[in-house]
Amino acid sequence: MYSFYPSQVIEYLYCARFTYFEYVLRIPQFEDKFHKVQRGRNVHQEKLEQNKSYLRKKIGAVEKWPDQYLSIEGLRGKVDEVLLLEDGSYAPLDYKFAEWKERLYDTYRQQLICYAVLIEDNFGGEVKKGFLVYIRSSNKLIKVDINEKAKEEIKESMAAMAEIISKNFFPKATKFKQRCLNCTYRNICIQ
Ligand code: SF4
Repeated sequence: MYSFYPSQVIEYLYCARFTYFEYVLRIPQFEDKFHKVQRGRNVHQEKLEQNKSYLRKKIGAVEKWPDQYLSIEGLRGKVDEVLLLEDGSYAPLDYKFAEWKERLYDTYRQQLICYAVLIEDNFGGEVKKGFLVYIRSSNKLIKVDINEKAKEEIKESMAAMAEIISKNFFPKATKFKQRCLNCTYRNICIQ
């Protein structure tokens, strides 16, 4: 049985062929500065306890579980913080060693949705939103809504990734052709 990290699901969502090239053909990615899939950075050293409690208060969290290693069949990952909110729902909170550039990156949103899927199964409660803290913008807090459709997309992606690997299935190219321009696999990929 396969167990993917959120970063692998994010790559699949960028282009399903990443899964094929990386895990069927075993061709590792060459990650240059143009590569669009952004991997999370370890920011634990950068966190400050006083800011954390301030942020939780601002969110209205009633309980917290830091550094949670969570897994379900097909997915695993570490959530910086799982929060219990006043309405009884849960929310992931993720610290980014980054500046807020007035735009939420798909990769950050998708990572939070993966965490939502993990939290719902492990904590047994609903996740309707998540939070990002941009450390390099004075710990700016951004709320990200997470709906059922988004969580379903992640679950379907996990199943599709397992199918690509188990059946050596060569998936369709991304429909966003501009993604191919700087792609690490562009020389071996028939588009
Ligand atoms: S070249 Fe395009 S279709 Fe091929 S793997 Fe890269 S992004 Fe996907």
